[in-house]
Amino acid sequence: MDLFYKKCKANKLKITPQRVAIYKVLTASVSHPCAEQIHKEVKKQFPNISLDTVNRTLVTFAGAQMVDVVEGHGDPRRFDPNQEIHHHFYCISCHKIFDFQADPLDSLTLPPEIEKKFLITGKKICLTGYCEQCRNKTADKDE
Ligand SMILES: [Zn+2]
Ligand SMILES: [Zn+2]
Repeated sequence: MDLFYKKCKANKLKITPQRVAIYKVLTASVSHPCAEQIHKEVKKQFPNISLDTVNRTLVTFAGAQMVDVVEGHGDPRRFDPNQEIHHHFYCISCHKIFDFQADPLDSLTLPPEIEKKFLITGKKICLTGYCEQCRNKTADKDE
């Protein structure tokens, strides 16, 4: 939570109980939740909070570089509180996104034409497949 307070201060964001709650829900989750999932959790604490407020708060957090936005896969936008260099594994069955670290991937050499064409500011590898749980489920079905 220290990081939260520090970043809020640095970005002149007001620290409200709702913002604290949203951030806590996000960091407690390991599956990169979308705004709707976060809303469901935060509502337990703040029954009157709207999805729109949660959404706007998350976008504010993203603007202050407190969280990352994970796009793609045709799902709603997902949010990632992990600010360390890491990569993703996306489960195509349960749609969870898992973090993993791998030094060789961080220093991956890109094709020269890509380096020439684009200015690379980050490297995040996203693997897709079935997570442990879903993999076991599919295996069960086959037997
Ligand atoms: Zn899965
Ligand atoms: Zn992540």
